Amino acid sequence: MQSIIYLAGVGPKKASLFASELDIHTAEDLIRYYPYKYVDRSRFYYLHEIHGNMPYIQVKGHIVRFEKVGEGPQQRLSAIFTDGKDTIELVWFKGVKFITDKYKTGIEYVVFGKPSVFNGKYNILHPEIDLVSSLPAGEQLGLQPFYNTTEKMKSGFLNSKTIQKIIFPLVQQLKTGIPDTLPAYLLKKFALMNLTESLINVHFPKNAHSLNKARQRLKFEELFYIQLSILQQTKWREQNFKGFIFSQIGNFFNDFYKNNLPFELTGAQKRVIREIRVDVGSGRQMNRLLQGDVGSGKTLVALMAMLIAVDNGFQAALMAPTEILANQHYITIKEFLGDLGVNVQLLTGSTRTKAREELHAQLKSGELNILIGTHALIEETVQFHNLGFVVIDEQHRFGVEQRSKLWKKNIQPPHILVMTATPIPRTLAMTLYGDLRVSVIDELPPGRKPIQTSHYYENKRHGLNQFIHKQIADGRQVYIVYPLIQESEKMDLQDLENGYNYICETFPQFKVCKIHGKLKAAEKDYQMQLFVSGEAKIMVATTVIEVGVNVPNASVMIIENAERFGLSQLHQLRGRVGRGADQSYCILLTGYKLSAETRIRMDIMVKSNDGFEISEADLQLRGPGDIDGTTQSGMPFELKIANLTQDGKMLEIARNTAKEILESDPELAQQENYVLKQQLRKLKSVKLSWGVIS
Ligand code: ADP
Ligand code: MG
Repeated sequence: MQSIIYLAGVGPKKASLFASELDIHTAEDLIRYYPYKYVDRSRFYYLHEIHGNMPYIQVKGHIVRFEKVGEGPQQRLSAIFTDGKDTIELVWFKGVKFITDKYKTGIEYVVFGKPSVFNGKYNILHPEIDLVSSLPAGEQLGLQPFYNTTEKMKSGFLNSKTIQKIIFPLVQQLKTGIPDTLPAYLLKKFALMNLTESLINVHFPKNAHSLNKARQRLKFEELFYIQLSILQQTKWREQNFKGFIFSQIGNFFNDFYKNNLPFELTGAQKRVIREIRVDVGSGRQMNRLLQGDVGSGKTLVALMAMLIAVDNGFQAALMAPTEILANQHYITIKEFLGDLGVNVQLLTGSTRTKAREELHAQLKSGELNILIGTHALIEETVQFHNLGFVVIDEQHRFGVEQRSKLWKKNIQPPHILVMTATPIPRTLAMTLYGDLRVSVIDELPPGRKPIQTSHYYENKRHGLNQFIHKQIADGRQVYIVYPLIQESEKMDLQDLENGYNYICETFPQFKVCKIHGKLKAAEKDYQMQLFVSGEAKIMVATTVIEVGVNVPNASVMIIENAERFGLSQLHQLRGRVGRGADQSYCILLTGYKLSAETRIRMDIMVKSNDGFEISEADLQLRGPGDIDGTTQSGMPFELKIANLTQDGKMLEIARNTAKEILESDPELAQQENYVLKQQLRKLKSVKLSWGVIS
């Protein structure tokens, strides 16, 4: 394919910007770099029509005079522009000399920009200005494309307009027609625009209708190939990796169920255990995602699934993202198991060498049945006798690679159960984990009271202190969480330190403990233990306690600077309380100045206790790229045009279509599917990471 360096207007410098900033190397990459928005340049506005809150508009007229206002770096350039009747101020804060050299008074220009209000008058900041005579004729004048650029590109004079100019001749070349990347029968079935027309119209739309058709087609194509790739991968995996067969439910499981289970399982827990049983008995390797809101009892499900593995002569492992959580799982599970005779051990970064050697030996010989730990589990040196079942808790905290290392701990990959309390919206799950089966625990254990959530401004602190006091006097415990943002870790720790001192001074009668990520493991344990035992009444912490920590007696969660947390993180934090029989409270403290988005976030938290609802809202607010976890777990590809928030319906259609095609033609060997096979191969060679998610 033609390198972009040979295209008119590109050259080595711009080519290297395209490559480093946008991963664009060939003319084809560029053609597939779609505009992110379009602006209507189909008509000229009169200045008297301008009102508040308008989009980008264009006005025809001339500059009456220039004026420099202020001095030095504060200086701005102002131009009075008239359409013959009214005037408006054009303002620049940069490039003063450039502008005054380039534009003259009295010449007819088209000014393009977004009107804003300053000192009660309208102005246009940093407008685009063109000579009326230089405006492109014909179809270009309608909807104008805008391309995303980065700061680096802009300082290299590669802005949206330049990109448009580079793409224009490429699109002209397309007009002779290029082979379609979708088979004719699909175009026909869904009445899709062909590829040539779509590419032309996505860059230079003839009109709004054609633009819409073009975008629909390109979105469908994008979603369809992702689904085709994922589904094909799944088929391949099912054929090539047989699963261990756990044919029986044995004594460990049965004895546990009869004698050790301290409460009745919820209906949802029972259902999920059944789903897992079917999977592990089927001969297929299981890949299952278990979604269940915080406190829904996922640990117990994991434990019972691991017991099935042990009953069938296999070892099981449970990996958690933090040491605190691994520790806690270990303690909980040991307690659940009692004297059942299952050998359970803990492996974390702070396991001593001597204990570790002993553990390695037991693991290798098969004496050890269940290993619980942190990512220490995936180190080379950890070798199992016969690993058959793996549980990954809070899976979004792990990278794809870390997870796939566990696969390789046995010759034949073990069954995998990944668990998350951060529910992933369905559309995202379908795209991220196309081949993962999903189980949902949609029921909390009985007797839980919904957590009451409130949002307070900081001035309510005094009243809040009285409330804390009362809760503790009633026998409860309290969490206070401070945000930790990595860039300024020092400052954040300072916040935490100050908060801790303030709390100690305010509540001298109570013991206060403190946890953050920088503490040594032993110290962390000690502090945690203070809280678990009930000796400490208040825990001041960073988000290290976000996942999994389970102290049922804690009934108040106070989140400082709540505006600095995302929705799913807030929900996770809130989930640390409401685990016992008492009424629990979550209090979100923020400053006064909140963005509109933050206000919505606080509102949602106050109104909803439902993790699925919250994650949907999060997706709407932030877009899938920012959902907690997806960046870390590695979104295996970037969507260029489809949008998981808006295109859920189309995603479903694309998925079903891909499924049907693969069912009737698994190898894509039929003539009519030849183009699919070819295109898939091409896409995979570019993006190798497609579908390697586990
Ligand atoms: P999560 O799904 O957030 O990991 P946990 O597994 O930590 O939740 O369970 C939360 C609490 O609920 C634990 O104290 C656990 O012992 C308890 N629990 C789990 N299942 C049940 C049940 N069926 N009935 C009552 N309590 C349960
Ligand atoms: Mg948990």
